[in-house]
Amino acid sequence: MIGAVAFMTSCSKNYGYQFENGTGSVGYNDSTGLEIDTAMDRIDASKFTAAQIYPGMVTPLQPRIKDTILNIDLNYQTATASDLRVSVLPSNWISTGLWAPAGELIKIVIPEGIYGLTVQVGSHTDNLTGKEVLQRDPVIVIRRTLYPGVNYVRNLYGGLIYILPQRPLGQVLPISFSGVCAGANFVLGQTTDEEWRQMISKTSVPFFEIIGKRIAFTLPKANLSLVSIPSPTALMQKWDSLIKAVYYDWYGLSDNNPDVKNRSPYLPWRIVFDIQPSVGAMHSGDPIVAGQTSGYFYQAVTIGQLEQSNWGVFHEIGHNMQMHSTWTFSNNGEVTCNLFSLKKSSIYNYIPGPLNDGWYGTGGQTPGAASFLALDSSAKDWSVLTNLGQFYPRMAIYAQIFEKYGYGFMTYLATAARNARFTSIDNQSKIDFFYERLSEYTQTDMYRFMREWGLKVSQTSRNAVAAKGYRKLMTNVWMYNPITNTGGDQPLAPRVQFGNGAPGTSLGWTVSSITNVRGGTNGTYNASYDAKNLLDGDINTIWHSCFNGCYSGISSTGTAPNNGSTSAALYPFNAVVKTGNAPVKADGFYIVQRQNGNSNHMDAITIAISADGNSWNTLGTFPLKTAANSSSTEALTKQFIDLPAPVTFQYFRFTWNVPPGEANGNRNSAFAEMGAFYY
Ligand SMILES: [Zn+2]
Repeated sequence: MIGAVAFMTSCSKNYGYQFENGTGSVGYNDSTGLEIDTAMDRIDASKFTAAQIYPGMVTPLQPRIKDTILNIDLNYQTATASDLRVSVLPSNWISTGLWAPAGELIKIVIPEGIYGLTVQVGSHTDNLTGKEVLQRDPVIVIRRTLYPGVNYVRNLYGGLIYILPQRPLGQVLPISFSGVCAGANFVLGQTTDEEWRQMISKTSVPFFEIIGKRIAFTLPKANLSLVSIPSPTALMQKWDSLIKAVYYDWYGLSDNNPDVKNRSPYLPWRIVFDIQPSVGAMHSGDPIVAGQTSGYFYQAVTIGQLEQSNWGVFHEIGHNMQMHSTWTFSNNGEVTCNLFSLKKSSIYNYIPGPLNDGWYGTGGQTPGAASFLALDSSAKDWSVLTNLGQFYPRMAIYAQIFEKYGYGFMTYLATAARNARFTSIDNQSKIDFFYERLSEYTQTDMYRFMREWGLKVSQTSRNAVAAKGYRKLMTNVWMYNPITNTGGDQPLAPRVQFGNGAPGTSLGWTVSSITNVRGGTNGTYNASYDAKNLLDGDINTIWHSCFNGCYSGISSTGTAPNNGSTSAALYPFNAVVKTGNAPVKADGFYIVQRQNGNSNHMDAITIAISADGNSWNTLGTFPLKTAANSSSTEALTKQFIDLPAPVTFQYFRFTWNVPPGEANGNRNSAFAEMGAFYY
């Protein structure tokens, strides 16, 4: 200290202000040798009033323990939330079961050579700074780094004492505490019910903990006068088994799995009851914080309640376990956190009230899923909240899948998500991820199901699923009622082709433009190649491009069949259909390759639509089956192109490039039918 003082005085400067030099000239002593910091009989009572209000104080007669060595188990496994691709995992609070009295200095002795430990005094980590109405002081928890040897810590509010290791130390560490009070923590497997009752009856520590392997509650002792806990052993065994069944097993996680991303969390979830949570009545995070109400207390400590009515704790752990980076697409934030409650209800065989309300639109959940699903598919949009209620109606899509196809879908989905080699970069890729896994799991192309829930699947994803060759969805599963387990078994209405497959003749549709038309010898009209053959519903008649003898006149129906060009054109080619005098709404398009001769089968078409034939909106490029890439049955059948959502247009255009196996200069294109359909 002497050197420091000398240094400070030696570099004093004239700043233009007249003030007294505070470093040394007034003769301050340094604090070395003073004992005020470590005099344990000196109590800082400055926050007694606030501490008495919250978290509460021990009585003056409560014995202060001296030089008690606890063996703290700092041997555990770590994983990060990003390892499991979830939101939050339990962190490293290791309970001691001890209480630091308000304003009193406590002494903690750490063995030599042990670094990386922090002590936390207090459980209520929510920071209420800035809240207008306060039921307790905003910050009542402290954390201090612990060093080898003697450490002194004081929290003016008092609180339960936790050791927070930076990382697992791989050992049971003897730590000595002085000036602390014995609380009444119950630890499953270590404390008997009778021992816990004795501890509770003897302590005035205002909070106690019941700690299982997978979940731990920090609870106000005062509530025990309203609701008793007959057997904390039975209670925590039940909690542990439910957390394992509902979260870990269902997500495909297991204890001690050699692959960290598939391993169950090792440390327990923390649920801390607080007189004033920083947000809401209960919130997720680490710890989960629950309002200190008798209702929540009753739900937490009553076995029948946690099997059934306890929604909140399962909801908040559900938030922590949400997989936002892979498959939880938008407007699911308050939805996929509840799926674990669906799983729980399947174990105990009841219908959760929120699911019932969500389906029928009762309890303010308007509109309910049932009325949404009965809408015309074009009116459905998952992302519009007023369209599909807020939270509970949306649960029904998952309930339908679980009830109809099995709860194992979640295991499949979550496992695939954790092991995916990418993160979904936007909402569309999350919807696609979900759709592809659902189709894989059900071995069915679930496109129609997604669409009837107002979820748009990308064309890339549709193609990926189509390539797997799954069967089409055969029934209207989206009308399956997950409350009564009925419905959803009506055969799906097939695609309805405009004009019954022959719109040109029955609806007044015309080919309003086509690249060119092959004529007869010397460019004379030849009905065998007329563009109207594309609309006649006869798969054996074709349009053919001209490679010589281009015909530029009008067809026998009097419509202009081509662009007037009399010379062969280069690719890309295109064909435009006008849908009569009115726009139509369609769910997709179809095309039929030529049946006689397959050298010029087209392997892809780009489809665009237009209201006026001038400005075009391109819908995408769609692969086609050809004799070269598929069986001849597949290549020659009518090929349907389902769109992610219906479209309205009066003109549609197919554009294609050189058919594989053709040289561009050959200008040799032909096909049999083109059209559109709706459901
Ligand atoms: Zn929530």
